Amino acid sequence: MSTAASVLERCAALGRVSEEPDRLVRRYATPAMREAYALVGGWMRDLGLEVREDAAGNLIGRRDGPGKTLVLGSHLDTVVDAGRYDGPLGVLAAIAVLERLWDRALPYAVEVIGFADEEGVRFGTSFLGSSAVAGRFAPAWLAITDEDGVTMADALRAFGGDPDAIASAARRRQDLLAYCEVHIEQGPVLERRGAPVGVVTTITGQTHAEVAFLGEAGHAGTVPMNARRDALAAAAEWMLAVESVARRRQGTVATVGQLTVEPGARNVIPGEARMTLDVRHTSNAVLREAVADLRAEAQRIASSREVELDWDARGETAAVPTSADLTELLADAVEAMGHAPERLPSGAGHDAVSMATLTDIAMLFVRCERGISHNPAEAVAEADVALALDVLERFLGELA
Ligand SMILES: [Zn+2]
Repeated sequence: MSTAASVLERCAALGRVSEEPDRLVRRYATPAMREAYALVGGWMRDLGLEVREDAAGNLIGRRDGPGKTLVLGSHLDTVVDAGRYDGPLGVLAAIAVLERLWDRALPYAVEVIGFADEEGVRFGTSFLGSSAVAGRFAPAWLAITDEDGVTMADALRAFGGDPDAIASAARRRQDLLAYCEVHIEQGPVLERRGAPVGVVTTITGQTHAEVAFLGEAGHAGTVPMNARRDALAAAAEWMLAVESVARRRQGTVATVGQLTVEPGARNVIPGEARMTLDVRHTSNAVLREAVADLRAEAQRIASSREVELDWDARGETAAVPTSADLTELLADAVEAMGHAPERLPSGAGHDAVSMATLTDIAMLFVRCERGISHNPAEAVAEADVALALDVLERFLGELA
């Protein structure tokens, strides 16, 4: 069997390890995650890696070497009703490439990390595992409870981790050489360009907000059109502005993904319309400008319709560039395999975001069918995975 076929077979085996019988869901510190670790940890041991788990529950396989440590990896948790490649592909590709390189002396140590939680499904925290490795785990998170009322601290303890020693999971900047992650693209760009793999230039910045228009509820039959303060009509006008503001600025994506209307009845004029806003761009400056524009538009619409605007900023994550040198090295490796090195930003966040606070990062995307992800229909081609393995193998050799 080819290495790529064996990676896909392992993805399939891992895809059967779930909390539920009929769909794939594998959340942080659950028995399913324990079972997944037994599988992946076993594959690491078979290869000869020294396997351990850190206090936050990340699975780590190490091959010793002189000098600093190159970290490869991705996450082993999933969303609800997940596909089998988002996360595991990066971990299993790393193990497979190390297997190929096993007899070759490298001037650095290598660790493969299967991060315990990236999706944040159980506790609503993103990048939990890699945050601990990066030394950015907030102790307050340990008190967060899941939907069954179990605190993160208790869940972690039951899993075999140590909530009192989370800080020990943090790695030292001076010990690390770099972080490289293979991941499915989760979007349609590579497929549209006809490219099997691509190198990531930046992980986009994100801004989230909750935006509400507050008008006045009233009788749908008796209040004349010119006397209304319809909150939903204001929201509708603004949602179209969101679309056009994003389209005007190259590379901006802006989404209203949730909308609730109060009181919400056929014969009542909407008094309140509340929405979520998600805006992303690779440039923090452009992102800030776009958000400022959207807010100004909302204010203008609110004033002209005599409704109130309530804008609640819910946080932002800065764009994270990948290392120019490492990305060039990856691109050279793609070219050496006879393919044009496609460059693209990542619109999704990844463990690499946390790792970037600690060391230089690089990411290799693998084309996925129709860009579908976070969905059981997630699919990759064996030939694309084979190329990704070749590229990663060459990258590791060149890094020497
Ligand atoms: Zn992922």
